[in-house]
Amino acid sequence: MKDLLSRLPKVGRLLESAEWAGIQARCSREQVKAALEAELDLARQAIMAGVRQAPGEEELLLRVEARLGRLLQAGPRRVLNATGVIIHTNLGRSPLAQEAATAAAEAAGYCDLEMDMDSGERGSRHVHVEELLCRLTGAEAAMAVNNNAAGVMLALGGVAKGREGIIARGQLVEIGGSFRVPEVMEESGIRLVEVGTTNKTYLEDYKGAISPETGVILRVHPSNFRVVGFQQEVPLAELVALGREHNLPVLDDLGSGTIVDLRAWGVDEPTVQESVAAGADLICFSGDKMLGGPQCGIIVGGKQWISRLKKHPLARALRCDKINLAALAATLALYIQPEGWRSIPVLAMLTEELTAVEARAKSLATALSGLPAKIELVSDVSPVGGGALPLHRLETRAVRVQPEKISAQALAQILRQGKIPLVARVHEEAVILDVRTLRGEEISLAAQALAAALGGETNEQ
Ligand SMILES: *Cc1c(COP(=O)(O)O)cnc(C)c1O
Repeated sequence: MKDLLSRLPKVGRLLESAEWAGIQARCSREQVKAALEAELDLARQAIMAGVRQAPGEEELLLRVEARLGRLLQAGPRRVLNATGVIIHTNLGRSPLAQEAATAAAEAAGYCDLEMDMDSGERGSRHVHVEELLCRLTGAEAAMAVNNNAAGVMLALGGVAKGREGIIARGQLVEIGGSFRVPEVMEESGIRLVEVGTTNKTYLEDYKGAISPETGVILRVHPSNFRVVGFQQEVPLAELVALGREHNLPVLDDLGSGTIVDLRAWGVDEPTVQESVAAGADLICFSGDKMLGGPQCGIIVGGKQWISRLKKHPLARALRCDKINLAALAATLALYIQPEGWRSIPVLAMLTEELTAVEARAKSLATALSGLPAKIELVSDVSPVGGGALPLHRLETRAVRVQPEKISAQALAQILRQGKIPLVARVHEEAVILDVRTLRGEEISLAAQALAAALGGETNEQ
């Protein structure tokens, strides 16, 4: 063993050798040295455990290059989403419209984030999205923050800190990723007052809970679940009337929040405009669920409430950066154009005709036809995802790939580790490529990824 250990190359000599000049041109000497030492440590441990021989110099170089390569390419990387899940939380939720991506890239340098270009004086970052949001939703005032969780916290804390908040038991939702409504209320300095039962809440329940301590009435949209059967909720307009009577603000957390009424497409999600029309004082929703923009939270509502929130000390901590605001403004601008919402990827995918999806599935199947796998066109259903529309079943078409030489699990893993990673589901010994979430050039990129993984040539026309 001693002999093996002493055969490990010396750090100083390796770093001086010509073979190691390339990696030192790409990464600083310090980083190369640290990576090499880490690899030598691993090698020493393996030798002492008796599980490995001393690695050669070439092998060490490859290992160090792989280690540093991961760092050089760190950060969220582009992937091909072949899961069919449109709002995929782990894959970055909503893909941006081209217009929004371009606007974000342009704002990345200097931009007029907080300068009024008429006067040359300091301006407000809110102006970039406020008028668009007001026009689109009918609200008096609006602002954007980091995400909807932040929006709900700011709104609750801003209107009712230190006081009681009334909420129906059936709305004490957990959204996932540790966003639980009762905890969020507590963290915002609100004392939770639950009314009703899991399945039924009446106006009388709210009335009975109002006291001099009450600071807000909260309604939360059950984004990711539905109670069906013996069920009753109080309509927002009735909560608003009750709030008015007692001079209490009503806050509506819509979760997803859509501006386009998609019920004609079978998508049953309340619109922001409906909440505004019902008179809610503050309405919170995500910028990156069904709205299809960047990660942010939007708060719309009455002028006096929104101006209070803009001045709140937390607003500074929760504010959006320029890249987010630019992408959000460009996304919202699409909504004021005729049929502009169809350029928003999430909405385009959600409303796309099955015949168009099928045509893409066919072209992918054709491109894959020469590969060493059994290729079939199959019908499937996909969830919308993103904690939205839990009951919505979206019919789709997929390509089923059953590899000849490796398992489906192995293929899925190779695909995830490809040059442009591809994420797909495995079902009954096959990889399922749902093309609803693969668009434009992505069909061809997916075909290339499969060819690289299975070893073969695509058959692209
Ligand atoms: C998703 C969701 C949130 C949190 O929104 P983020 O944008 O993820 O911060 C809050 N409330 C409801 C009802 C939601 O659906």
